[in-house]
Amino acid sequence: MPQEEKTTVVGDGHNRDAHDDERYDAQRIESKWFERWQQDSSLYAAESHSTRQKYYVLEMLPYPSGALHMGHVRNYAIGDALARYMWMNGYNVLHPMGWDSFGLPAENAAIQNNTPPREWTLHNIAAMKAQMKRLGFAYDWSREVTTCLPDYYKWNQWFFIKLFEKGLAYRKKSLVNWCPKCCTVLANEQVVNGRCWRHEDTLVEQRELEQWFLRTTHYSEELLRDLDRLPGWPEKVRTMQRNWIGRSEGTLVDFKLDGATDAANATISVFTTRVDTIYGATSLQLAPQHPLVVRLTKNNDLLRAEVERLIAEQRKAREVGDIGEIEKHGVNTGRYALNPYNGEKVPIWVANYILMDYGTGAIMSVPAHDERDYEFAKKYKIEIRLVILPQNTDPEETAVEPKLPFTTTQGTLVNSGRFSGLDCEAAIKAMSEHAEKNGFGKATVTYRLKDWGISRQRYWGTPIPMLYCEKDGIVAVPEKDLPVILPENVDITLTGGSPLGRLPEFVNATCPKCGGLARRETDTMDTFVDSSWYFYRYTDARNDQAPFDREKAGYWFGDRGIDQYIGGVEHAILHLIYSRFWTKFMRDMGMIKNDEPAEHLFTQGMIIKGGAKMSKSLGNVVSPDEMVEHYGADATRMYTLFATSPDRELDWQDEGVEGIQRFLSRVYRFAVRNTRREDPAWSAPVPENLNPPARAVQRKLHQTIKRVSDDFQGRWHFNTCIAAIMELVNELYAVGVNVGAGGLPTQVVPLPLLRETQRTLALLLAPFAPYLAYELWEMLGEQSSLLRAPWPKYDPALAKEDEVEIPVQINGKLRSRIVVPADAPENDVRARALADDKIGAMIAGKQIVRVIVVPGKLVNIVLR
Ligand SMILES: [Zn+2]
Ligand SMILES: [Zn+2]
Repeated sequence: MPQEEKTTVVGDGHNRDAHDDERYDAQRIESKWFERWQQDSSLYAAESHSTRQKYYVLEMLPYPSGALHMGHVRNYAIGDALARYMWMNGYNVLHPMGWDSFGLPAENAAIQNNTPPREWTLHNIAAMKAQMKRLGFAYDWSREVTTCLPDYYKWNQWFFIKLFEKGLAYRKKSLVNWCPKCCTVLANEQVVNGRCWRHEDTLVEQRELEQWFLRTTHYSEELLRDLDRLPGWPEKVRTMQRNWIGRSEGTLVDFKLDGATDAANATISVFTTRVDTIYGATSLQLAPQHPLVVRLTKNNDLLRAEVERLIAEQRKAREVGDIGEIEKHGVNTGRYALNPYNGEKVPIWVANYILMDYGTGAIMSVPAHDERDYEFAKKYKIEIRLVILPQNTDPEETAVEPKLPFTTTQGTLVNSGRFSGLDCEAAIKAMSEHAEKNGFGKATVTYRLKDWGISRQRYWGTPIPMLYCEKDGIVAVPEKDLPVILPENVDITLTGGSPLGRLPEFVNATCPKCGGLARRETDTMDTFVDSSWYFYRYTDARNDQAPFDREKAGYWFGDRGIDQYIGGVEHAILHLIYSRFWTKFMRDMGMIKNDEPAEHLFTQGMIIKGGAKMSKSLGNVVSPDEMVEHYGADATRMYTLFATSPDRELDWQDEGVEGIQRFLSRVYRFAVRNTRREDPAWSAPVPENLNPPARAVQRKLHQTIKRVSDDFQGRWHFNTCIAAIMELVNELYAVGVNVGAGGLPTQVVPLPLLRETQRTLALLLAPFAPYLAYELWEMLGEQSSLLRAPWPKYDPALAKEDEVEIPVQINGKLRSRIVVPADAPENDVRARALADDKIGAMIAGKQIVRVIVVPGKLVNIVLR
């Protein structure tokens, strides 16, 4: 952290001891402003009607675990700096905060501490809210959203019913991911390398359950396509989403099981992007968990054991984390499937590298034209049959057999019956059509994206508002009966099944259709439902008639969504796909105009310490409370912005926070020494003709405004912004403007300039260190609110260097330096360079080929 040194290099009154009243007492200053800010509840309130342009800046809402961690502080410090900057730039800013407060940890904590989840959660919220306030984050608390309260989750239920009515919520029996530690189902997005996203050490099991799903795949194509319309999102996030949605064009082909006596389950569907190679298919490969495998191994214990081994190998590979690297094994079942194109019998294998949760769980293996199939066929001596030849450019020449596997589509079909002679692209089209005409397949687009399973067999979540009636089947709870309240005082310590299922008063309900008995759904919703739309609720958080008012949401979201969304990259898939899905659904309901939730997304880097992620087990956790107590909120939050650029990983150093605190001390001491409000000259205009040292201060001031503004806007290089402010402070100390403190006489830097400089300093510090900035603002006698004080503008003429030093080269080698006016025309610079004594001596008698002048930078004289 080289910048830090700058804060200590320049003398800051070492010639005398700092007076007590010059000492920067962060706790005193911060508690004073903290009290004042608490008294004004509308301080950070967004205006509902405004002539100003709107700006919606949002940080992802936290899970109320009980205490903020440093990652939170960094996330919110970024958002807060931006919000304050936009207020100062004249925007009507919406900057809200809330609590993603349903979820498993509350249940586990409740069991551990014997405290009901609601009580535990609300207690944590209060504690974290206090921390946020102490850190000085400028949130509009009148819009606070707490997802575990009925006034919010009522609308989860309302949305669910709308989704159900539109056919976008449905129930089906399916193999689901089950985490034995969570004791609940996980969505595909929550399975990471075969493990639970929350329990990295726990393998996810497959269970068959009746589940509620949201039809995210209804929007697969749009979710993919619209990524191209989000240039304000990090490319890495868009790439992750593209891969997750995983679109591929191909053909679905049904192979019949040879010798099957019953029609049921006798079809093996295969998806292929290369149907043109199907005459070269010399085996089918099934995933070990393919439903047909059970049947094929029924009376063959040896085969069954082999399959079990493949399953174990696959599980092990998932554990290691990269299934793509698995050593490929397979076993021939001895059974055959019929290739529908030519009736040929194709052996059926079971292989460990075929995944049931990808595609159809079965592939056709074409060793001559696929890398992976080739490798497998070589190993198990399966026939390799060439069906594509490289396109022959010279018809006179006979085709040359290509090196195998030959995988490009630049080829012509051979040995492919009636399709021989077609080129690959044409064959894919013709063969797909053929399959469709004959009822055994079709051209199709598949997506890796699956529907979102939202049922959870847990207590602490939104009850799914559905009823089961013997007569009427599945019936939605009528809107007027919402919310379906989550009962309190439930014993959640018992295991086995949903806790709600053990409450007769919850389960037993009346069917709204027939008036008879109905059974209430006892599963709750995945908590990612809560966070899929919470940011719309902020626009109208107290509405009890609707999730939000269309016009209010329309004002803040406009056509492009949240102006700036900030959060961790770990949400690149889960939360950000779900909320994009929800947005598209709400748009189709006519509730909003925007297609996407956020126009700009920023993902901040992680905070680590000693090279490792902060964790209790490593004992390297830094507590925000301790930092605030020790160094103050300003120093703590400013450090998270200064240590590195916000998108990079930050390796925490306590000394770094200390460095920031020292810098803030210098700023404060300077202000104490150099504020002369009682002097009539203090508020006079800055004189036109300044002496050189004063002019240097003025120039530096305007250069600093320019640098901070440039690095802030759009780039968010807060670290360089802060470094620029530090340089300005160094310059102030360097010119010795310690008025009446043993420095130069006050005339050196006139009081009006001193006032303007300090005023600007307060403005520039406001987004990063609001407490101190407010204190300085008050010390300077400013009456207006700093929150909405206009961001300073720089004057290019004043920022410009009067003179610049330019290196002069001869044939690219540095030979001298000249000092010229900063705006000297090219010809003058050239003339001065040639007239330089040293240069003159070196070029005497030589022939000048060329003189290159880079204005303000360099002169290069080319000699023969
Ligand atoms: Zn788990
Ligand atoms: Zn009924």
